[in-house]
Amino acid sequence: MTTVAVLVEQRDGAVARPTLETLTLARSLGTPVAVWIGAEPGAEALAHLGAHGATEVRHLDAGDAGRLPKVRAAALGAAASDADVVLVTSTFLNKEVATLLALETGAGVVVDAAGAEIVDGRVETTQTVFAATWNVRTRINAERAIVGLRPNTTQAAALDEPAAATPKTVIFEAPETPETLVSVEPVPQAEGVPLAEAPVVVSGGRGTNGDYALVRELADVLGGAVGASRDATDEGWISHEHMVGQTGTTVTPALYVACGISGAVHHRGGMQASGTIVAVNIDPDAPIFEIADLGVVGDLNDVLPQAIAALKEARGA
Ligand SMILES: Cc1cc2nc3c(=O)[nH]c(=O)nc-3n(C[C@H](O)[C@H](O)[C@H](O)COP(=O)(O)OP(=O)(O)OC[C@H]3O[C@@H](n4cnc5c(N)ncnc54)[C@H](O)[C@@H]3O)c2cc1C
Repeated sequence: MTTVAVLVEQRDGAVARPTLETLTLARSLGTPVAVWIGAEPGAEALAHLGAHGATEVRHLDAGDAGRLPKVRAAALGAAASDADVVLVTSTFLNKEVATLLALETGAGVVVDAAGAEIVDGRVETTQTVFAATWNVRTRINAERAIVGLRPNTTQAAALDEPAAATPKTVIFEAPETPETLVSVEPVPQAEGVPLAEAPVVVSGGRGTNGDYALVRELADVLGGAVGASRDATDEGWISHEHMVGQTGTTVTPALYVACGISGAVHHRGGMQASGTIVAVNIDPDAPIFEIADLGVVGDLNDVLPQAIAALKEARGA
C-alpha cells in the first residue's frame, strides 16, 4: 500500500483549494494522509479534507517557527515519516521545504510538476519547463518521492463517500535553525483569489494606459484574479504583487486573458503554461498571438465591455 502524505495549505484556518487538488491527485497514487502544520484544524477543515480523500489528518504545531523552511521541513518529515510519496503545493516556501526534506531523507524531488503517476512502482511526474517550451517527464528513482504540484493542474473532486480524516497529533521537537524569527506581521492580502492559485487570470499591460477598471471587471465576472505586465507595475498603475512573468508570479490558470500585453518573453515565461490563453491587442503582429488559443485584434476599450456584457447576459445577471 502506498501512503501519500499531502501538506495542507491554509487560509485563515480553512483549507486552500490547491490542497484539494493535491489530495485528488494523491488518491490516484495511494492512500492520502493530510499533514496540517499550525493551530489545530477545525471541524470544517477536517470535513473538507475527508471529502477529498484524507484518511488521517496529522497535526503538529510548531508555532511561528513553523514558518521557517527548516522547521517546516522537519515537521513535515516527522508527520510523513512512513509516507512513500509526499506531495506539496509548489509555492516558493514549499519548494524550499521539499528540497530540504529530500536532502535530509535521501528522497527524490521534483517541484513545479503538473501531474504525477506511479509507473512500475516509481513516481513519474510531468512538467513544463523553459517558459513552457518543453514538456518533461521525470522518473524518480528513489524509494521515496517528494513532488511539488502547481496549482490548477489537477481538477479537485470530492468523493461520494468521504474518507475518515481521523485527527492525530504528532509529537515534534523543532530543530535548531540558523535563523531567529523576530516578528511576524501578516501582509494585507488583496481581495479575492491569490494570483498564483487563481483558476482564471485577467491581466492588463501597457495597452490599458493605466486604467484597470475593465480588466478588473472582467476578472470579477469570470471569478478570477487580476494580473499585470511588468511595464504596468513599473509605471505604478497597479502594485507589484500583480506582476506575472519571469520576475513576477508564475501562473497556470485554466484561462489566462492578456489585455494590451505584447507578449515579451519575460512575460510569457510566467503564463505560457496556462490552459487556454486569450489575447486582446490592437496590433495583429503582437507576439502574444503566437501563443494565444484565441486572439482578438482590437482596442481593449471596445472589446472588453462587449465580453463583459456577453458574459453577464449568458449568466442571466
Ligand atoms: C530581466 C527582465 C525581466 C523581466 N521580467 C518581466 C516579468 O516578469 N513580467 C513582465 O511582464 N515583463 C517583464 N519584463 C519586461 C518585458 O520584457 C516587457 O518589457 C513587458 O512585459 C512589456 O509589457 P507590456 O506588454 O505591458 O508593454 P508593451 O510591450 O509596450 O506592449 C503593450 C501592448 O499593448 C498593445 N496595446 C496598446 N494599446 C492597446 C489598446 N487600447 N487595446 C489593446 N491593445 C493595446 C500594444 O499593441 C502592445 O502590444 C522583464 C524584462 C527584463 C529585462
